[in-house]
Amino acid sequence: MRATLMYGTGDVRVEDVPDPVIRQPTDALVRVTASCVCGSDLWPYGSMRPEDGPARMGHEFVGIVEDVGSEVTTLAKGDLVVAPFATSDNTCEFCRAGLHTSCGHAQAGFWGGLRDGGQAEAVRVPLADGTLVKLPVPPDSALMPSLLTLSDVFGTGHHAAVAGGVDERTRVTVIGDGAVGLLAVLSARRLGAEQIVLMGRHRARTDLGREFGATDVVSARGEEGAAQVRDLTGGRGTHVVIDAVGTLAAYEQAVGAVRPGGVISRVGIPQYEEAPIGFGSLFRDNIRLTGGPAPARAYIEKLMSGILDGAVEPGKVFDATTDLDGVPAGYRDMADRKSLKVLIKP
Ligand SMILES: [Zn+2]
Repeated sequence: MRATLMYGTGDVRVEDVPDPVIRQPTDALVRVTASCVCGSDLWPYGSMRPEDGPARMGHEFVGIVEDVGSEVTTLAKGDLVVAPFATSDNTCEFCRAGLHTSCGHAQAGFWGGLRDGGQAEAVRVPLADGTLVKLPVPPDSALMPSLLTLSDVFGTGHHAAVAGGVDERTRVTVIGDGAVGLLAVLSARRLGAEQIVLMGRHRARTDLGREFGATDVVSARGEEGAAQVRDLTGGRGTHVVIDAVGTLAAYEQAVGAVRPGGVISRVGIPQYEEAPIGFGSLFRDNIRLTGGPAPARAYIEKLMSGILDGAVEPGKVFDATTDLDGVPAGYRDMADRKSLKVLIKP
């Protein structure tokens, strides 16, 4: 079969690889019908060392179950399923607590690298019963782009808002106009936030952000951007600041925009290990820091219902579609910010 491999910075190839096979009795084989490129794929695309590759790519996919291991009980050949961006048993202490990305099972983990990735024709899915969720629609459903966002970006945007404690009494700043930032806006809106300031400078994206519920857009960055957020909130800053970027600059912007007693919720993968947390940044005003990899699996059923009943259309974040041959160009277009998010139909 064909699969996407990253060999190093800016070097993505689609190549023939061995067909996946069932290895564990809890595995399933899934024929991918839709997948996509993630903003987080752009971090290795911009920095990967050749000695760390080649790595299988893709952690968001929908597909049809082609085969199941002998211990799989909830899935059968022909089922249409969505996979969250991490595998999990859905039964351990952490999964029961809704923290599937910290699942304690030995086969739990993230897609790609030495594991199969979603940007391919097929995937071996470990812990299939715990990981995959059936979709109650036909594979050609018009809802497919939105259902695909349950793999990661919708769940991640929702997690950012939930971890930050967004409710109808909160004002929220969202840093970043990528797919996760925009779906954090949508999620904050659904949770009732009274004001949502989107920080981004790409007009088409911030327009979609307004459609998703942003009440204000700030295009300035850094100190100036944070000052504009404070201006929009009576000089106070917002109760919640969601960092959907992951750079140190975004973190510092969050510190500048958060209100005393507020929360910084990070879902952009931090590209730093050291950042200010002392008296002059977090401590002085009782600022809390939260966030992490979203337990997307925990949110799939709940968020799916809003898609099925037409209340939300998170699939609007996809602005380009390609086949596997077009995946390397899709990475390039996303890195160049020509595409917001690229849907792949293998
Ligand atoms: Zn678990």
